[in-house]
Amino acid sequence: MVDIVIIGAGMSGLVCAQQLHQAGYKVLVVEKSRGLGGRVATRRLHETCADRGTCYLNPKDELLQRFVELLAQQDILQIWTDTTHEFDASLQQLKVRRRSPIYTAAKGMSAIARFLATGLEIQLNQRVVGISTVAENWCLQLESTNATTQITAKAVVVAIPAPQALTLLEPIAVSHEFLANLRSVEFAPCISVIAGYPSMQSNFDWQAVTVVNDDNLAWIGLDSSKRAEK
Ligand SMILES: Cc1cc2nc3c(=O)[nH]c(=O)nc-3n(C[C@H](O)[C@H](O)[C@H](O)COP(=O)(O)OP(=O)(O)OC[C@H]3O[C@@H](n4cnc5c(N)ncnc54)[C@H](O)[C@@H]3O)c2cc1C
Repeated sequence: MVDIVIIGAGMSGLVCAQQLHQAGYKVLVVEKSRGLGGRVATRRLHETCADRGTCYLNPKDELLQRFVELLAQQDILQIWTDTTHEFDASLQQLKVRRRSPIYTAAKGMSAIARFLATGLEIQLNQRVVGISTVAENWCLQLESTNATTQITAKAVVVAIPAPQALTLLEPIAVSHEFLANLRSVEFAPCISVIAGYPSMQSNFDWQAVTVVNDDNLAWIGLDSSKRAEK
């Protein structure tokens, strides 16, 4: 039996797992997808890659600043730019915005997750479909493509988005207040689109553009400008 099972190998789950592992606990991370990172996701295609979730980090508080410095020392993150643009769709105007440096990963943002996973025991392609208590312990039902299994642990950390957490936690006796807090979390759906362009047309004078006054488009990033081999 493990000490702690962590559900979800996104940033939250991996950071939590790494902290508990370093504190000496026997930790197991279970993840429903075949890759690490959750919404920090990189798609590999045409011998390059594109970030389709978190595109960059802009550390504003001390903890994130320290994490970014650690990742920069490991050569995982580099400064991408300190100049972003804002496109006003109603005025059709592109403005330059100076700001604090924003960081990105030349190998794709999912490199952060691979770094965080170092030394951890992780089971991929395992969806948790149920949680129950057995004596003093927790029992998790896991589903993969061809099998249903169970894991027992002394403690469970649920590190998945609120709507998905609700489906697991509603059937067990969790406080009404806690469930109400989970229900109150609102998600704004979004679609990430990856578009290619011929390399001879790569003379763009922008890297990251925030779009305002447009109902459909929020942000455009030139992913090739993050890659060392651009
Ligand atoms: C398009 C997009 C752009 C973004 N851009 C930025 C940005 O530029 N900068 C920034 O700081 N943030 C950005 N964010 C937000 C950031 O990505 C998220 O806040 C953060 O990654 C959430 O991490 P998490 O670990 O809490 O959740 P998630 O990343 O959602 O991780 C949860 C994990 O749990 C797994 N899981 C879910 N249910 C189960 C289950 N039943 N069993 C097993 N595993 C399960 C999921 O597969 C997933 O891997 C962006 C998000 C999106 C979608």
